[in-house]
Amino acid sequence: MHHFNYVDGQMQAEDVSIAEIAEAVQTPFYCYSSATLTRHYQVFSGAFDAMDSLVCYSVKANSNIAVLRMLANLGSGADIVSEGELRRAQKAGIPADRIVFSGVGKQESEMRAALSAGVLQFNVASEPELSLLNDVAVEMGLCAPVALRINPDVDAGTHEKISTGKSENKFGLPWTEARAIYGRAADMAGIQIVGVDVHIGSQLSDLTPLEIAFTRLGELVILLREDGHIIDRIDLGGGLGIPYHPDDPEPPRPDEYATMVQRTVGDLGCQIILEPGRLIAGNAGILVTRVIYVKEAGERIFVILDGAMNDLVRPSLYGAYHQIQPVKEPPTDADKVSIDFVGPVCESGDTFATQRLSTRVEAGDLVAIMSAGAYGAVMASSYNTRPLTPEVLVNEDKFAIIRRRPDYDEILAQEHIPNWVE
Ligand SMILES: *Cc1c(COP(=O)(O)O)cnc(C)c1O
Repeated sequence: MHHFNYVDGQMQAEDVSIAEIAEAVQTPFYCYSSATLTRHYQVFSGAFDAMDSLVCYSVKANSNIAVLRMLANLGSGADIVSEGELRRAQKAGIPADRIVFSGVGKQESEMRAALSAGVLQFNVASEPELSLLNDVAVEMGLCAPVALRINPDVDAGTHEKISTGKSENKFGLPWTEARAIYGRAADMAGIQIVGVDVHIGSQLSDLTPLEIAFTRLGELVILLREDGHIIDRIDLGGGLGIPYHPDDPEPPRPDEYATMVQRTVGDLGCQIILEPGRLIAGNAGILVTRVIYVKEAGERIFVILDGAMNDLVRPSLYGAYHQIQPVKEPPTDADKVSIDFVGPVCESGDTFATQRLSTRVEAGDLVAIMSAGAYGAVMASSYNTRPLTPEVLVNEDKFAIIRRRPDYDEILAQEHIPNWVE
């Protein structure tokens, strides 16, 4: 469900014409819909209303501070994975007691920053991390609230690069060793055990692996309590998928998910933390790009766009499918041909779609790459010295640039030629 629709033959974001934004901002740019973000947040958090729950939006999915502020205003907390994200969350006005700090490679300086801020919880993913966090907290005269991230050894059944809950993945503590590690954590002066944590992967299209993981986690909570630990919080991570392809099976609905959560861990008297990312932001954003050239080479039609893999890397990184739609609505009876949509970067991997059945487009036309609101702008780079992609937020009939395109002087000013280079 999103708010990018054709009105009078032109794609709009809510009540704003995409073509109008393109005139003002130039392409490529990301465009987000406030109404979609709001709706996704409310449907998801609403599904958990009956439970003692806290939604901590996963900042890494889309970390623009305007997006974070909107979600903060709706009551969202934040799941962060770096000091940079901590600073974003704070700048957006998300209170520290609604921030959980995840990630497998927290550094000392980041721990210090999060402890000073007073975050709700550290999700700790290894013993060396636990012991460093203990040292840092003791030195600061503080006690770090900790949930240990458990690797439940279940296959999320999703793409290998976004699967995190198998024992061969780098994430979390082996489920079989959890009790022993909790025992050691309890003896650390700078650590206060508050809960358990799990996150098995992203873009899950089926609740079964999550249900297995949560069931294991629930059993572990009972064992940990028998061992004398106080476990008040269960963090279930993120991971629910969204539809990218028109033929994709419908991903699980938030209410089905909530029912499963209630069934597996709802009776343990714990606060439930949820860390949705993609589900909130994914379909709330598009990448708008313009056709530079149409090149016909033998049988193939290459549409060369001014957007590229540096703007949206998901197709080249994960082989991800994104729908591609012309901004000007094609006639319903328009012929479809097989088109390769590619970017201008000097890599064969700079391809958004190969042999995609699509209506014809011409040089100068605008096309929208759909479902690009999550893991889009956040993963953008300036490869090929292409300025970082700007971001635009629409709200009803208004739009605003929420990240501007840097100019070339700014880009080059960050670099320096040492005086010993002739
Ligand atoms: C990436 C991540 C999330 C969000 O995942 P989505 O699939 O975007 O919902 C949540 N928690 C942790 C620990 C993550 O690494």
